Amino acid sequence: MGRIDIDGLTKEYRTPNGPIQAVESLDLQLEDGEFVVFVGPSGCGKSTTLRCIAGLETVTSGAIRFDGTAVTDEKPKDRDIAMVFQNYALYPHMTARENIAFGLKMSTDLSAAEIDDQVETAAEMMDIVDLLDDKPGDLSGGQQQRVALGRAVVRDPELFLMDEPLSNLDAKLRTQMRTELQQLQTELGVTTVYVTHDQTEAMTMGDRIVILNDGRLQQVGTPLECYHRPANQFVAGFIGSPPMNFLDVDADLEDGRLDHPDFTLPLSDSLADELDSTDLVLGIRPEHVSLTDTPETHPEPNRLIETDVTVTEPMGDITNVYLDVGGEAITVIVDGHVGVDPGGHLHMHVPASKMHLFDAESGRSIKHSDEPIDSSSLSEADSHVETA
Ligand code: ADP
Repeated sequence: MGRIDIDGLTKEYRTPNGPIQAVESLDLQLEDGEFVVFVGPSGCGKSTTLRCIAGLETVTSGAIRFDGTAVTDEKPKDRDIAMVFQNYALYPHMTARENIAFGLKMSTDLSAAEIDDQVETAAEMMDIVDLLDDKPGDLSGGQQQRVALGRAVVRDPELFLMDEPLSNLDAKLRTQMRTELQQLQTELGVTTVYVTHDQTEAMTMGDRIVILNDGRLQQVGTPLECYHRPANQFVAGFIGSPPMNFLDVDADLEDGRLDHPDFTLPLSDSLADELDSTDLVLGIRPEHVSLTDTPETHPEPNRLIETDVTVTEPMGDITNVYLDVGGEAITVIVDGHVGVDPGGHLHMHVPASKMHLFDAESGRSIKHSDEPIDSSSLSEADSHVETA
């Protein structure tokens, strides 16, 4: 097993205040061995979807199939899955060894020696051999999560379901565990669904990411697809940090312009032909804007917008520069060596090729940046580096 098909999954909770549609008509296919991250703001239906896949919730309608076989009505124990939760869910009175062995004792007829062997192997994999005789109360958060992962790994399941497993760890440990989890998943090759509200985790960990909002699917794609080809304004604003900048504009189709109260930008004929509406949102990523204090010599003066610098945030390698365009805040990332002073008056350049446009009413993407979405190999990247 390893392939998961979700067809028209809908989950409605009945509450005293009326029904809550937690997931609405979700269609999704997960391939064997994939690491798929469900991401979206709190309450968007990520955990509910995961719990439906696990069998911990009954679905209101729709079907879930594991390798073509419907499991929609099967109990969790019959689904060959292992779950890892944010709160570790370890038994406090058992040692790490007993916690890891518990599932095997309950669900297999392995001998005590065989169970011991498998627990040792899982513990080695998670680097917790020395902790096997400690109880959860004696372990740090990171160590407890390793035990919880060991307990999932030892089951040798067909599917891992992970619900915010790193949220209780401090930032440094989270980054470390992120890499370890990816390595573990690649090593084991087990299909994994990972739930997080953190777009950085989604971008860095997922083979593909599934973006949800308000119970509805927004986009499924590789991290780079979602970043550079967002299906709509929600995805564009959710994926990326600092987030994409948005400015409301009107398209003047006759004169081929995008109008904002404080600037105009040229609009190409081909793009104008694609528009159904003139109410648009211009989107531009912070790293795609450049700044200049000599607009008179700029090669594209008609793509410059006047701005005031409000705040700068030096990060070392880069500096986040916060600008004001007619009362609206815009974030730009510049090289850390570039000196930009708060209070300064600069022009920002918005390249046509990097600009995104969205329909203001539906949020649908009309144009995206031309950034490539296939990762190039290091040697290809090298060939772009100019040598002296
Ligand atoms: P997420 O994991 O994305 O934060 P959830 O799947 O937990 O979101 O919740 C989706 C929606 O369903 C939210 O509005 C939440 O309040 C509601 N919900 C979740 N579980 C229950 C429940 N057991 N009873 C009633 N409403 C619930």
